[in-house]
Amino acid sequence: MLNTERLLEILAFSDQATAIYTGENVIIEWANDAMIAFWGKDRGVIGQPMEQAVPELRGQPFIGMLRDVWLSGKTCSGTEAAAQLRVNGVLRTFYYDFEYRAMLDDNGSTICILHTADDVTERVMNRKIIEEAGRRESDLRMQVTEINKELEQTNNELRNANHFLALSNTELADINREMVDTQLVLNRSLIEQAKSEARIRFMLADAPMAISIFAGRDMVVETANKAVLAAWGKTGKVVGLPLREAVPELVGQPFLDILDQVFTTGKPYYGNEVRAELIQDGVRTEVYSNFVYQPFRDETGEVSHIMLIANIITDEVLARKQLERAEEDLRMATNAAELGTWYLETGNFHLVASPRFRSIIGLDEHTSPAYEDLIQLVHDDYRDIVSSQIDAAVHMQAALDTEFPVSAGEGTRNRWVRLVGKLDALNDTRYRRLSGIIHDVTERKLDELRKNDFIGMVSHELKTPLTSIKAYVQVLQNKMRGNDDPLLTSILEKADIQIRKMTAMINGFLNMSRLESGKIHLHVTRFDLSQLVSDVIDETRVVLSGHAIDFRCDDELPVNADREKIGSVISNLLSNAAKYSGNETTIEVRCHLTEHEAEVSVRDQGIGIRKHDLEKLFDRYYRVENKASDTISGFGIGLYLSAEIIRRHNGAIHVESEPGQGSRFAFSIPLNVKE
Ligand code: ADP
Repeated sequence: MLNTERLLEILAFSDQATAIYTGENVIIEWANDAMIAFWGKDRGVIGQPMEQAVPELRGQPFIGMLRDVWLSGKTCSGTEAAAQLRVNGVLRTFYYDFEYRAMLDDNGSTICILHTADDVTERVMNRKIIEEAGRRESDLRMQVTEINKELEQTNNELRNANHFLALSNTELADINREMVDTQLVLNRSLIEQAKSEARIRFMLADAPMAISIFAGRDMVVETANKAVLAAWGKTGKVVGLPLREAVPELVGQPFLDILDQVFTTGKPYYGNEVRAELIQDGVRTEVYSNFVYQPFRDETGEVSHIMLIANIITDEVLARKQLERAEEDLRMATNAAELGTWYLETGNFHLVASPRFRSIIGLDEHTSPAYEDLIQLVHDDYRDIVSSQIDAAVHMQAALDTEFPVSAGEGTRNRWVRLVGKLDALNDTRYRRLSGIIHDVTERKLDELRKNDFIGMVSHELKTPLTSIKAYVQVLQNKMRGNDDPLLTSILEKADIQIRKMTAMINGFLNMSRLESGKIHLHVTRFDLSQLVSDVIDETRVVLSGHAIDFRCDDELPVNADREKIGSVISNLLSNAAKYSGNETTIEVRCHLTEHEAEVSVRDQGIGIRKHDLEKLFDRYYRVENKASDTISGFGIGLYLSAEIIRRHNGAIHVESEPGQGSRFAFSIPLNVKE
């Protein structure tokens, strides 16, 4: 039998790691090299408690298990048990199949524990790797399955999405169609809008107002119509330029600053009758306008544009200024000529008189006379005639030019005034005015009166000797009757003609001076006008020598009138007809009855009268100036007197004539004239 020593030696050579422990503290009694190599220790561990020899086993189950085996005597084993051991200084996990065998004595007490162990780390590791790979594979498989599931789901979703897309596609196609339709409508309305914009532009372009739109603070001319370009004297090329470059002459004038202010404040600016200097056709020109600078705001509320709308009123303003100048000139002229001005509103006969007018008629300059006051101031003898002349001017548009004395009452000087007026040509009769001037003609009138007195006196004085001469000639003619000295007879005849002419002339002067001094009065008698005409023809036949008289009259033409004065009118017309027509021509004399009047006319075949002379023919001292009448004697008082006499008879006198065609003078008087 082998002793223990020997056995142990044998065991020491065994590949299987073996160790023997005793006691409750697991004292290492013995261990072969293989076991010591497992522990990573050296032989020094023999004799040491396990806990001390392999300290890293603390906290692991092995020492506890050994103690249990020692105490219980029951063998314990394990396979692939993991133990943490420090080998070569590195703590690692090793796997062992092991057995703790309790060696019992006969009493069943434990003598020692035999520990055998195989290192199965490699095997475990390999298996673990295989297991790991298997696990990985099954994981992968699971993942693949998962992924497959997901893919399927995604597929489903994709299918759904596809379906949805297909639906959306048709919807999109519908929407597209609608959009095309909308686009068409939009295009149409765009075209309409463009058209209406074009219309507005067209209207603006041709508008009589000057219109322009400026953009931004630089006032870039965005649009400018014809009227504004004409006012600026520029062409469409200025569009797109800032205003200060488009119309450079505006620099230094207030407009650019005003525009800037409008841009800043956003408040519109109104200009009234504003003067601008602009260069039109190369000439610096004054342009007047009423205008507005109207600001416009964009979506953000900021001023972005300013619109200019202007009414160019240059012509009106210049015309008004010219009128004001003309009025000023007229005022100066009327003042210088000491003329008073007045007008009468024809609707209500309201008189408006200048201060000078009032002082001329002898009133306080501050008193405004009513029309009735003015008429009351007129001298009694002239009152009716003046008011009827004014009536005629108001109602028949007759020219008013009359002279009369006025008296402002006791203690004031009598004055002579000349009142001239004309009805203005307004169509609306309610607002018509008879307007004119008044002139103090007292001095001239007094001169005339003095002159008339003188002429009257001289004529009167001349008449007496002339009457004597006439009587002497008549005596001589009577004495010569039966005497056949032809020379003496003809001399006496010629003397008689000259005396008649002179008598007529002196009578004319006398009558005129009487007329002017208001001393002419009508002596109305009843007589036959036909007879009177015939008598006058006979009386004047001597002066009418050489002319044939063609006289036709109603048999009887009884009238109530001043026989002598009507006779002098007929005589005057006859001698004029003879004076202003060639010898041998015929003078036609007619008289006849019209409804309420008797008319006498004298027609000659003489030199005739130009139109512009016709109107003045009946004025005092008016003589037509031409070669033919230069050689014919006269003073221009015959027709004046005739017209006055007919006027006093409430009749009318007129003339028709053409130069070279002869003239026809005619007068008519009422059948019954009152004195
Ligand atoms: P006068 O003494 O100069 O003839 P009147 O008053 O009789 O003055 O006439 C005024 C003017 O009218 C005349 O100077 C004459 O030129 C013109 N006149 C008058 N009668 C005639 C006539 N029958 N034909 C042409 N001219 C006339």
